[in-house]
Amino acid sequence: MLERRKTAMYKIAVLAGDGIGPEVMAEAVKVLRAVEKKFGLEFEFREGLAGGAAIDVHGMPLPESTVKLCGECDAVLFGAVGGPKWDGVESRLRPERAILGLRKHFGLYANLRPAVLFPPLIDASPLKREIVEELDLLIVRELTGGLYFGTPKGRDESGGKVRAFDTMTYTEHEIERVAHIAFKAAQKRRKRVTSVDKANVLETSRLWREVVEKVAAAYPDVELFHMYVDNCSMQMVINPGQFDVILTENTFGDILSDESAVLTGSIGMLPSASLGDKQPYLYEPTHGSAPDIAGSGRANPIACILSASMMLEYSFGASDAASAIKQAVTRALNGGYRTADIYSGKGRLVSTAEMGDIVVDYI
Ligand code: NAD
Repeated sequence: MLERRKTAMYKIAVLAGDGIGPEVMAEAVKVLRAVEKKFGLEFEFREGLAGGAAIDVHGMPLPESTVKLCGECDAVLFGAVGGPKWDGVESRLRPERAILGLRKHFGLYANLRPAVLFPPLIDASPLKREIVEELDLLIVRELTGGLYFGTPKGRDESGGKVRAFDTMTYTEHEIERVAHIAFKAAQKRRKRVTSVDKANVLETSRLWREVVEKVAAAYPDVELFHMYVDNCSMQMVINPGQFDVILTENTFGDILSDESAVLTGSIGMLPSASLGDKQPYLYEPTHGSAPDIAGSGRANPIACILSASMMLEYSFGASDAASAIKQAVTRALNGGYRTADIYSGKGRLVSTAEMGDIVVDYI
């Protein structure tokens, strides 16, 4: 995390994308404009094309001009990409390639996904109130190694028998750097890291455990626990309140972070940050482009607004402005304002833009 600069002028690459991406992004920008004045910050928003919107203009989901724009900025705020219009394009040109391309280009190896249950939304969770009320965890997922990227991977055929294979691989360095991010994050929270692996079966997990223990020695104020991934997926629904920071590798993190998302009630509430060794980092809501509701004013902009709040904290060191946004969101929810995805018949149903305005009013 960066210290706040003396001259608090920041360039933000705004890649709104497709579907509800531009709708939720407009609200996040509105909220950023509101904290700008109040907290002595200054933002220059620079818009770029990504996903289907870029395919339509440049024939590719992540044009060189967008990568260049991001490289010139202090942080990247990403909306969402994809939609039925581009479903037929070949796989290397799919809109979703834009995010993978940005992660790869900027070396973003740690994905942070907080899962917090806002008390007014407790009944939107599929879990019982007494189980879910303590939920406040952060998943730190390794993003650029492991099974998804290991080689060799492929398919072959011999004697009429077809075989497919993937390789799970981790280096000490890859584990070490993401572990530091998890421990640093825990120092600012409840000071507990649960490292999740499958060390009873996998060699990569045994190395993972060894390296995480070594890194832990540098953070004596943080308690370290180890848990097998199968047990963790169960504990998350039995007693999610026991977790503070969950540190895990790419594949396990992919699955556990979706599990944590569903506990909070709506995917429209969940932000994320992808960090590396140097800026720009990337911030995005965890949801997709939701083509089923695009253009209807029903999208919940809170995930994108909270992603902007993570950007203030992790890229600009502006924790005061970041907390002001989180508090304003809580107050909007306490005030009974609900977009359609979190509306259960009580409170006031509001549109995407109205929710943005209400959050701004509370700042
Ligand atoms: P999705 O997240 O777009 O939608 C899943 C469901 O959640 C839908 O019913 C949608 O209406 C609802 N939803 C999502 N975000 C919401 C919000 N902010 N407010 C209210 N409701 C919301 O996932 P999907 O339907 O599987 O995918 C749609 C498209 O998005 C696909 O093209 C997919 O590839 C793409 N996608 C992109 C990203 C990304 O850009 N990071 C992530 C996931 C999916």
